[in-house]
Amino acid sequence: MPKEGFKSITVSENVYDKFHQVYEKSKDDLSMKGVNSFSGYVTYMLEEMMLKDKTFAKYAPKLEKISVDEDRIILKDNTRNRIAEVVIQKGELYCQLCERKDCACIGFVWSIPEVYEVLNNKGLRNTK
Ligand SMILES: [Zn+2]
Repeated sequence: MPKEGFKSITVSENVYDKFHQVYEKSKDDLSMKGVNSFSGYVTYMLEEMMLKDKTFAKYAPKLEKISVDEDRIILKDNTRNRIAEVVIQKGELYCQLCERKDCACIGFVWSIPEVYEVLNNKGLRNTK
């Protein structure tokens, strides 16, 4: 049984050996980072992974569909943390956030199947 405040997991010998080999080789580097044991090393690795993962989750998906109206598509831009409104203007898509007709939001709008259908029915074409 692990001591209080700790939990143990079981991994295959292969995995253990692989990690242990790397640990043995980078012991000196690791001790400079304050990692002084094999379990400390595994913890450190897991935390690093999670940090990377969180960043990944934060930025993907970059754009999300919020709602689709008759002539207005509302998107959430997760990178800029802004709401983008794409409207149909003079038979063309126009992004009010970027004030452009050819930004990533427009490209995203075309990639939503239900919107693509609606736009096609209105006679709009993806010109890109
Ligand atoms: Zn845009």
